[in-house]
Amino acid sequence: MQTRTYIFILLLLLSGCNHQIHQQQFYVFGTLVGISIWGVSEQKASEAINTIAKDFQTMHHNWHAWQESPLTDLNQAIAAGQVWTAPSLLPLLKKSKHFYNQSDGLFNPAIGQLINVWGFHSDDLSSDFIPPSPEKITELVALAPSMDDIHIEGDQISSTNRGVQLDFGAFAKGYAVDLAIEKLRQLGVQNAIINAGGNLKAIGKKGDKPWLIGIRHPNGTEVLAAVAVSGEESVISSGNYERFREYEGVRYSHIIDPSNGKPAQGLSSVTVIARSGALADAASTALTVAGLQDWHRIARQMGVKYVMLVDEKGIVYVNPAMAKRVQFPADKKPQIIVSQPL
Ligand code: ADP
Ligand code: MG
Repeated sequence: MQTRTYIFILLLLLSGCNHQIHQQQFYVFGTLVGISIWGVSEQKASEAINTIAKDFQTMHHNWHAWQESPLTDLNQAIAAGQVWTAPSLLPLLKKSKHFYNQSDGLFNPAIGQLINVWGFHSDDLSSDFIPPSPEKITELVALAPSMDDIHIEGDQISSTNRGVQLDFGAFAKGYAVDLAIEKLRQLGVQNAIINAGGNLKAIGKKGDKPWLIGIRHPNGTEVLAAVAVSGEESVISSGNYERFREYEGVRYSHIIDPSNGKPAQGLSSVTVIARSGALADAASTALTVAGLQDWHRIARQMGVKYVMLVDEKGIVYVNPAMAKRVQFPADKKPQIIVSQPL
């Protein structure tokens, strides 16, 4: 073989190395965040990942619902009936008001007091826990905290209801992956996946193939289904398999039904695919509350096009467009019920 051919092959190999997939994981938002980047040099990928890791730390600090943060400061001001400014929270507040109304109030980040009494303002969910009394739940539901109580004028935030306590846990990670993907694009990355504990957003492709995403089975660590994504899409799951409380053998989900103040029952996991991570995350929480009765109506109202639900018996419900996209392992195909089109 001629020397020139050798050099050519070597260059190909080197460029292959430089443009392989780069993956890194770090811990933030109380969960493991994984980033995969394809098609840029190792140095560029690692700089981009460091930038995203720092951004995530900042968001985690700004939006923290129970440790001293701009959000807990705002909550204190609301409880004291004061007007407050918190620029880092304005986009979350505006989006929350929108999703609150679209979901008929099933997505309601104003119910922080209920989330707290159910023991979810804690990093350690295996610690001692006693469910709140029915009286306490009735009292907090009667306060009727709503995102409509929040008023924004310029950068001034106020609430007409002191019972409002904000907690953005239901869509903070979905919104964070939107912001992170936007940042990756600015940094020249065109092909990537960011997965913040089941809240995933992808752009571009993995070489000449679409990204293949595994959706977790709510019963454990197995994969329930796979879905191919390319372009810009978020695949976001809510479920009671990771964050829950247990008391006397009963499991309490971390998703609370704002209408009765109790943990949502009936669905083990809900997966939504949408371009916007914030929408997919807010919708996956709202649809968990909506349950088998109402998910279809709420999904339509929120403008969501792809939904998959798993009930407590492991039966899978999908809309026809989602049915066309998800692939189940041939040896572990669940019972699947296809709904009317959305
Ligand atoms: P995950 O954090 O596992 O992705 P979700 O996106 O469903 O799950 O968010 C659940 C979190 O949202 C809860 O831990 C709580 O902080 C908050 N939350 C619970 N119920 C509601 C609700 N009905 N509306 C808005 N936020 C909620
Ligand atoms: Mg959610």
